[in-house]
Amino acid sequence: MDSIDQQSGQLIQMSDQIWAFAETALQEYRSAELLADFAEQQGLRVARGVAGLPTAFTAEYGAGTPVIGIMGEYDALPGLSQQATPVKQALEPGAAGHGCGHNLFGPASLGAAIAIKRLIEDGKIQGTIRFYGTPAEEAVGGKLYMLREGLFDDLDVALAWHPSNEIIADTASSQALADLTVSFSGQAAHSAYDPWNGRSALDALELFTFALNQMREHVKPTVRMHYTVTDGGDVPNVIPEHASLWLWLRDKDHVGVKGLIGRVRQIAEGAAIATGVTSKIQVTTGDYEMLSNLAGAKLIQENFGWLGPLQFSDREIEFARRLQQETGTEVSGLKSEPEPLDLEPGPPEGGSTDVADVSWVVPTLALSVTTAPADTPWHAWPVVAAGGMSIGHKGMIYAAKTMAATMVDLYVNPTVRAAIQAEFEADKNGREFESFLADGPPPVPDS
Ligand SMILES: [Zn+2]
Repeated sequence: MDSIDQQSGQLIQMSDQIWAFAETALQEYRSAELLADFAEQQGLRVARGVAGLPTAFTAEYGAGTPVIGIMGEYDALPGLSQQATPVKQALEPGAAGHGCGHNLFGPASLGAAIAIKRLIEDGKIQGTIRFYGTPAEEAVGGKLYMLREGLFDDLDVALAWHPSNEIIADTASSQALADLTVSFSGQAAHSAYDPWNGRSALDALELFTFALNQMREHVKPTVRMHYTVTDGGDVPNVIPEHASLWLWLRDKDHVGVKGLIGRVRQIAEGAAIATGVTSKIQVTTGDYEMLSNLAGAKLIQENFGWLGPLQFSDREIEFARRLQQETGTEVSGLKSEPEPLDLEPGPPEGGSTDVADVSWVVPTLALSVTTAPADTPWHAWPVVAAGGMSIGHKGMIYAAKTMAATMVDLYVNPTVRAAIQAEFEADKNGREFESFLADGPPPVPDS
């Protein structure tokens, strides 16, 4: 706890810098460098640009077992630029913003890793600590490439936290997701002079989305399907030769998602036959559902109990209430008390994460900490606003302390590690992890 308190000024400074950089997936050059440089200054061994991702890195200290990993994210979301004010006001109109609080995610996890490093250095605990700087959680999935390289294979346990509107040891799963490109190829012709010579790829696309939307009535309530049209042809007087769609399919688990992929393939083929064009579907990436770990969640819960509630000031509560007023949500302030352990979580809430893919390779403990008001929209400006001021900072420090304390328990208590491992094996039940990620290098944009 002392170590986190000593670092708190630097952690807050880094979170504010990353908040202002607001770099999106695979472009987090300054954010990654800031964290990697800090890790190096603190005496960790840093490997930069791992798994073919220029903005990924690992930072490690110690030797031997147990090997405990802790994940950090730092990517922003496009179009969510916002000042740290309780009214909607872009910092730079059209620019990106930290609408998922990942500016807090990276520094908190790194701070916890450094606290463990100091204990190993002082001979108080034994083993290895490794921080994973994982880019592009919001798109692409940086952890999938790091998993493919085997970077998580030697871990005993992995940890992650997430900014949230509540404090909770995660026992619920997350949605599995497949990210697909659906494209159609037709035949160009003059739209007025000789349309009979043309076959429209856009017609196929429209038929495809119509059928997909008809299918909504015939899927489980746990399914979510959403798309954008990325190519609808060029100009009206040329019959579109090409058209494509970016589609995400989600369900409560990867088995459900694989079933949806099969149905969507048939829909694409049907749309192509009906319009005389050809179709192509590519699964580019995706996530498995989270394998939550109750033994690990109990350990986190004990540490919440030991740390007590978060202490927010009147000014912070007033800031949160203003955000709730501005977004028309219930004016209830901030959740500062840890939630009770949820022993029977239902189906996952909407949302997917590449942390879940890690949870299929190594037992993964996850927690959420309040960094934003209850009920205000997520992936939206209130999260950016609260994450750029003291509400977010306090949540970040609380997360760092909970994770550091939980890791100390993991290092010193082989019985709890064994229980976590046994639960992981039982949950997997012999099933293997087969990532949705397609072959090939990560789609790193030109910088
Ligand atoms: Zn997130």
